[in-house]
Amino acid sequence: MARIVVAGSGSVGACIAYHLALLGAEDVVLADRAEIASGSTGKAMGGVRQQFSTAAEVRLARESIAFFEDLGATWFQQVGYLFLATTEDGLAELEGRRELQAELGVPVQRVDPGFVPGLATNDVVGAVFCASDGVADPPALTNEVVRRAAELGVDVREHTDARELDRDVLVIAAGAYSGEFGVDLPIRPLARQLLETDPIEGLPDDLPMVIEAESGFHFRRRDNCLRIAMADAEPRWGSEETVDESVFADRIERLADRYPPAAGTRVARAWAGLYDMTPDAHPIIGQLGDGLYAACGFSGHGFMQSPAVGRAVAEELLRGESALDLSPYRIARFSEGTTFPEHLIL
Ligand SMILES: Cc1cc2nc3c(=O)[nH]c(=O)nc-3n(C[C@H](O)[C@H](O)[C@H](O)COP(=O)(O)OP(=O)(O)OC[C@H]3O[C@@H](n4cnc5c(N)ncnc54)[C@H](O)[C@@H]3O)c2cc1C
Repeated sequence: MARIVVAGSGSVGACIAYHLALLGAEDVVLADRAEIASGSTGKAMGGVRQQFSTAAEVRLARESIAFFEDLGATWFQQVGYLFLATTEDGLAELEGRRELQAELGVPVQRVDPGFVPGLATNDVVGAVFCASDGVADPPALTNEVVRRAAELGVDVREHTDARELDRDVLVIAAGAYSGEFGVDLPIRPLARQLLETDPIEGLPDDLPMVIEAESGFHFRRRDNCLRIAMADAEPRWGSEETVDESVFADRIERLADRYPPAAGTRVARAWAGLYDMTPDAHPIIGQLGDGLYAACGFSGHGFMQSPAVGRAVAEELLRGESALDLSPYRIARFSEGTTFPEHLIL
């Protein structure tokens, strides 16, 4: 049987290796040149949503939700994603996307955001909520997937450069470093940072992920702290994972305004990681050449998509086709002019 080497044990590579083994592949190596989940996966917010702006992304996210739900509440807290609009234009966008998502079976609804205790909603003109979205712990879950893959016979090798291994097929799942495999891929690293507050008394267990639609400012509960993110005013293209402390005061002020129970808190921890951006913010998935396959360019939302992608990629590699349609994600879309930008990048 052919030897398949998966390069990168972030959430994407781990899920591919796991599904390959589940489908019966007997010679799979999962190689990471550093450690399991030490790339973007170890830096991620852990948001899992189905609320995207394109049908293809909604489908990918929907497929993944079933996997997360099967893992149960220890691994996936289904607290929902709440988008708040403070302008009529913002609300019209939310409503347009809600219609698309609902047509595709996502249970997203117009809501009165007053159902979230403590949330300041005076300036909110409308909100949508999807109760089956939620949050997880990307590095913990990825380590668990790797553990299960190893149990099924996957040969897991840390501190190993995949390019140096003998193989019949190489799967590039190396996140922001996927351009280092001798193939020209339209992927650019973008630095993004997360802030975590000091512990805050009394945070409700079911506090949803809250997102301000117009500014993109968002936060979630992580244990007894809040994790905060917002895109930089000027995108920080490049691989430098540095923290910009100059925005801390602004982010804490936004948090206190939107969620007064957090007033007086401060930033206890902050870190930066890399989004692997493609020009249309969709991943590149599929054959690149003989024995070379790509699963990269997840543009800041690959954790939530990794279960569905892992399954579909494993099916394509072993059976030549997958139940989930991966055709929108082929690299040829960039030369054929069939890109379809995803607008909802948080
Ligand atoms: C700040 C931040 C917040 C995010 N928030 C979310 C979120 O809320 N929800 C969500 O779904 N996604 C989020 N993401 C994106 C998410 O982290 C990734 O898309 C997802 O984890 C998939 O990562 P990956 O497996 O493709 O790559 P990575 O996790 O980066 O893994 C790639 C691995 O490849 C290894 N590697 C590189 N070169 C080689 C080589 N030559 N040989 C072997 N190994 C190699 C690296 O060491 C690394 O471990 C966020 C990302 C960041 C940075």
